Amino acid sequence: MKTAGLIILCVCSLNLFAQNKYGLTAMKLEEYKKSVVANPENELINLEKFVPGLALEIRYATTNNFTGKKIYALARAYARKPVAESLKKIQADLKKQGLALKIFDGYRPYSATVMFYETYHDTTYVASPYKGSRHNRGCAMDLTIIDLKTGKEIPMPTEYDSFKKEAWPTTPVADPVIRQNRKTLIDAMEKHGFKVNASEWWHFDFVGWQKFAVMDIDFEELEK
Ligand SMILES: [Zn+2]
Repeated sequence: MKTAGLIILCVCSLNLFAQNKYGLTAMKLEEYKKSVVANPENELINLEKFVPGLALEIRYATTNNFTGKKIYALARAYARKPVAESLKKIQADLKKQGLALKIFDGYRPYSATVMFYETYHDTTYVASPYKGSRHNRGCAMDLTIIDLKTGKEIPMPTEYDSFKKEAWPTTPVADPVIRQNRKTLIDAMEKHGFKVNASEWWHFDFVGWQKFAVMDIDFEELEK
């Protein structure tokens, strides 16, 4: 009887180890490395090195984000290889208009998504940990546009990570400049394989994100 009890306990523990409390298995570093060997498209690319003139303001590496906490130890933006290649094309298109991309967030480790959910339970604005975020797959970008002359962000309908209805890309904008700016961003992104999120003008999913796994690898591990 005692042995049977022990066996049941071990099976349960193994099960907990494979899946987290939300029933999801996120890919760790060793598994990720194997997946890149099997398919080079899985590689997470350091965008700052890959896309010329890319501006970064990684809010989750600061306390200036909706949680008020520093989530990332390093200010980095990573994305899967095809995502990075698209961003390079978008950046080149924008440069012709005197503009450039500024990244707020790219690949996000799954543990950060869990933390966001446990801080702010509304899945309109934070991803469900039961499914994971497209950011966790290295296939979503939070970004805006800067003017190359000033280095400043061009005016948009709201701040980044605003939970207001004005953040929805379908909400009418009275100011013609802001309306055009939002259109410039969405058009530039959607021309090269992204789709804007329904409640966040700054969030874009890469079409085909379903092919890529949810990962839980932090930036320090990636750079080791
Ligand atoms: Zn996002």
